[in-house]
Amino acid sequence: MTLTVLTAVLDGVRIGIRCEDGRIAALGPTVTAEPSDHMVDAGGAPVVAPLLNGHTHAAMTLFRGSGGERPLMPWLEEKIWPVEAKLTDEDVYWGARLACAEMIRGGTTRFWDMYWHPEATARAVADAGIAATIGAPLFDHDGNAEGMKESALRSLDQLSELGPAVRPALAPHSIYTVSEGSLRWIAELSAEREVPVHIHLSETEREVEDCVAAHGLRPAAYLDRLGLLGERTILAHGVWLDQEELELVAMRGSTVISNPVANMKLAVGGVFPYPAARAAGVAVGLGTDGAGSNDSLDLLADLKLFALAQKHAAADPAAIAAGEAWEIATGARAPLLGAGKPLTVGAPADFLLLNPDSPALGIGELASDLVYAASGAEVDTVVVGGELLMRGGELPGMNEIVARAAERARRLGL
Ligand SMILES: [Zn+2]
Repeated sequence: MTLTVLTAVLDGVRIGIRCEDGRIAALGPTVTAEPSDHMVDAGGAPVVAPLLNGHTHAAMTLFRGSGGERPLMPWLEEKIWPVEAKLTDEDVYWGARLACAEMIRGGTTRFWDMYWHPEATARAVADAGIAATIGAPLFDHDGNAEGMKESALRSLDQLSELGPAVRPALAPHSIYTVSEGSLRWIAELSAEREVPVHIHLSETEREVEDCVAAHGLRPAAYLDRLGLLGERTILAHGVWLDQEELELVAMRGSTVISNPVANMKLAVGGVFPYPAARAAGVAVGLGTDGAGSNDSLDLLADLKLFALAQKHAAADPAAIAAGEAWEIATGARAPLLGAGKPLTVGAPADFLLLNPDSPALGIGELASDLVYAASGAEVDTVVVGGELLMRGGELPGMNEIVARAAERARRLGL
């Protein structure tokens, strides 16, 4: 059925949007609805692009609140990895369904994921009606490089057959959990299959020190030596990238995803150097990281922390403009992430209507309000491919999804 939205507000102008076959067929002040259309009266709601979560581990909603007060390595070794060894497809499916539901509620309609049982996450994404680039986490620090390679090839094949909403990626966990030989193999496979690589990099200072001690190079230069720093590479975190590394990352065309809340929660002790990254020309996106280390998937809430951390670290309130921060959260400053085009005729019919009565949005510049006053709670309506996924802030099936995910978390003893 054709969806027609009337009385939405785009850049201060009251417009209608007609969606056909997943795309915007008409947009402007004179658009009207046909009698057979599904008509939505936006009531003066601002219409904006959806958000894009550049780094998460969706099914880790199951681990929400179980982290304690640990730093990164003890958190992984004591709390996360032992439980992950017990996960089943159904655990991951319901954990990821909950993540998708939370992301839709907060206005995120595309994400980049790295997690076990990736085909279960893919099923959750398809059932939720959104889109994701998904990779199985690759580790060989247990010495099983052959097992890792088999898992990489199997998941690439499985994820390649799941239709346009799911794109496969190779997701080596990090330079400290994957050997040099396997990282080179992943670089070759990525080039051969033309699939992106999604890796954690330069999250802690310890990682940098260990990399220099083991390889005589800082992390980005080490990845470059292995052929893994390229235009299909996503680097999650990048907190400790120095000036030379930022220039190298920009030159190779790789993308950095900043995850300010997870960085603060795990107390990595630094802030991603965004002003230097921007000056070098690095493509930048924003991520929540998993709910195990955030614990929310509300990217709009995280956007405020991202902008504030940048201003604070730079001791400069002009370190980042609100409009620029908003573009980062929608994926508009990192083409690899796969964000939709600006809202124009012919673009995919993906957009949000914000609550027209929200006190956070009624006064002031919209971009500034979105970054500093809003959270995901201001998202009223979510449209993806011309389909209405949420209307009036109510996501159909939410209660069941929460109950099923909670049941799976209990099963795991979380
Ligand atoms: Zn992560």
